[in-house]
Amino acid sequence: MAVADEIPLRPLPWPDAISAGFWEGAKAGELRIQKCRYCERWQHPPAIACMACGSEELGFQPLPGGLRLYSWTVLHDAPAPGFKTMLPLILGLAEAEAQQGLLIAANILGTGESALRLGMPLTPVFEPIGEGHVLVQFKPATGQ
Ligand SMILES: [Zn+2]
Repeated sequence: MAVADEIPLRPLPWPDAISAGFWEGAKAGELRIQKCRYCERWQHPPAIACMACGSEELGFQPLPGGLRLYSWTVLHDAPAPGFKTMLPLILGLAEAEAQQGLLIAANILGTGESALRLGMPLTPVFEPIGEGHVLVQFKPATGQ
């Protein structure tokens, strides 16, 4: 197999000091979201300070509660060669039940657009990609 065949031609996570907790959670099979230790608000994507109170006392915790489909769009053209086998690709926004307005973006796998409904329950799935990287994706939750 040629080297080019082994490289996923999709963007890979690029963890830094601010986002590392999110990506470490993905590797552990957990959706860990940044939470302010001062005002206890969740925020995503991770930032250097709390968007609500300005505190820099932040940490990552497994997100409690479920996720609900908030919005989506569908790609019919691949934004990079590695997406060609995923078309049509559903890009979703999920709202966390833990905090109104806490939105998390990810691909929605394992379903077609016709099955999507606003507010439907989603569950995270963790997709290994590349060497040592894991992506957070969503799929419809079953049994809810
Ligand atoms: Zn805060």
